Amino acid sequence: MSLNKTGIAVHGGAGTILKSSMTPDKEISYKNGLKEAVLIGWEVIRNNGTALDAVEKTVQSLEDNPLFNAGKGSVFTNEGKHSMDASIMDGKTLKAGCVSSVSNIKNPVLLARKIMDESDFVLLSGKGAEEFAKIHGLEFESDEYFYNEYRFQQYQKALKENKYQLDHSEDSSGKLSFLSDEKKFGTVGAVALDNFGNLAACTSTGGMTNTKFGRIGDTPIIGAGTYANNKTCAVSCTGDGEFFIRTVAAYNVSSLVELKGLSLEDACREVVHRTLKNTGGEGGLIAIDKNGNIVMSFNSEGMYRAFTKNGKDIEIKIYKD
Ligand code: ASP
Repeated sequence: MSLNKTGIAVHGGAGTILKSSMTPDKEISYKNGLKEAVLIGWEVIRNNGTALDAVEKTVQSLEDNPLFNAGKGSVFTNEGKHSMDASIMDGKTLKAGCVSSVSNIKNPVLLARKIMDESDFVLLSGKGAEEFAKIHGLEFESDEYFYNEYRFQQYQKALKENKYQLDHSEDSSGKLSFLSDEKKFGTVGAVALDNFGNLAACTSTGGMTNTKFGRIGDTPIIGAGTYANNKTCAVSCTGDGEFFIRTVAAYNVSSLVELKGLSLEDACREVVHRTLKNTGGEGGLIAIDKNGNIVMSFNSEGMYRAFTKNGKDIEIKIYKD
């Protein structure tokens, strides 16, 4: 396969992202974070690495960036902890690794990959997953590493108002309302196609501020938040997790391509602008197909997103066109 078919796309969350609530400096920081992530993944592909390694490294860089709600930038749960989820899927083998509700793991994406590569399981959670991480030598970080003053204030306010907050969007009912004008967004994901025709997808999140009851969203659920299949496409989602689970959003895109013969663009439009929208789900997804077509589709105000097909022409966008 020639390099012009290959590509990598990333997202850093979708939601009510308005230019009016963004400072120029902040916009630059987000764009730089997305650009860096895309280039890290592209470097892997350019050097004949696998799509799987590319999405893993890309998401790792976004997890290390406190701007995004994943890894270091994860939001606070009701107990004042960080509860992170991640998943990775290999389109060649249909193998997948997922982790849910872990704390103090520096890079949940690396743990998801370890689960995929070195266990007989797909999804591990909580203390058991942390034990698995220890056995496999994954890096742990202190609570201080994950501390972020802004996130802490978000959490304090959410506690006081007894609200939970998806790091995304505003609901007129107040159910998912934002807690300040300076809104933060952030679940991250990547999809890639390598030189060998392999597709891979990966997603990582810090979940919801003030979340309770061990709530788990779509991110660590294969078929909902993440899916990859060499026969069709690779997909990573972001948005109201409950709706992405109920509509099996990521797999839905793949099956529309596979079974209905839709183009990637039409399949993504169907899922994001019809299925999800009609159910009330807000958010978006990024996808790449086996021919290197890239689609970044969302039904919210914006989505942090970027892609490259050749490492030079990098497209980075935040708002609607
Ligand atoms: N989908 C994630 C969840 O529901 C949140 C997000 O995309 O920001 O946990």
